[in-house]
Amino acid sequence: MKYKRILLKLSGEALMGDNSYGIDSKRLQEYASQIKSVHDMGVEIAIVIGGGNIFRGVQAGKVGIDRVQGDYMGMLATLINAMALQSSLEQNGIFTRLMSGIKVESVCEPFIRRRAIRHLEKGRVVIFGAGIGNPYFTTDSTASLRAIEIEAEVVLKGTRVDGVYTADPEKDPTATRYTNITFQEVYEKNLNVMDMTAFTLCQENNLPIIVFDMNKTDNLLDLINGKEVGTLITS
Ligand code: UDP
Repeated sequence: MKYKRILLKLSGEALMGDNSYGIDSKRLQEYASQIKSVHDMGVEIAIVIGGGNIFRGVQAGKVGIDRVQGDYMGMLATLINAMALQSSLEQNGIFTRLMSGIKVESVCEPFIRRRAIRHLEKGRVVIFGAGIGNPYFTTDSTASLRAIEIEAEVVLKGTRVDGVYTADPEKDPTATRYTNITFQEVYEKNLNVMDMTAFTLCQENNLPIIVFDMNKTDNLLDLINGKEVGTLITS
């Protein structure tokens, strides 16, 4: 087992599956069973899930909503996804705790660092919903910040692309994938890994990031077993 404590970042968009909005039950179940397989190994798992399948703050202007209000809507969207994932994990027999960056007392606990760590030590999967709780941030930034706070060894960024490429592989067929790259190289080559706030936090705190394809079954398990999957970004 390569990592004992991980922070898994899942995008909200990935939860849509082949749909154009919302939550795809098949994808949700696939994610839950992948998470279960690493949980069964004894890995301590914290999860941050995005909200792009429901609402993003940057879309707010298009529908005449103020940006800050839109960001709060986006945070609540992440909470809906987090609740869905929590339910799916529980159906797979995993104990979970949902902690929110915004107080939603009837639904989940507020984020308290020491409490989050205790949950992890007890083998509960901890899902961080509602982002950091502040507008103008993203769930990538939430993932970096919470990972540092709970002393995770790595941020695993599960996407639909299997790593960091020399160019956008969906636009440029000649693009090749890096297996290893440094934070500095990512800056110099202007590669798109996550937003700069999130990325810089990881670099400054020496927290490695692995970008990998979460939609390929067993990728998460292989990563934990130390196989080379996706792209590893280190100092
Ligand atoms: N958001 C925010 N503060 C946070 C985290 C998220 O304001 O700490 C809002 C922001 O509007 C963002 C939305 O929540 O657009 C959904 O998160 P994100 O876009 O990161 O989701 P993903 O792209 O991973 O699905």
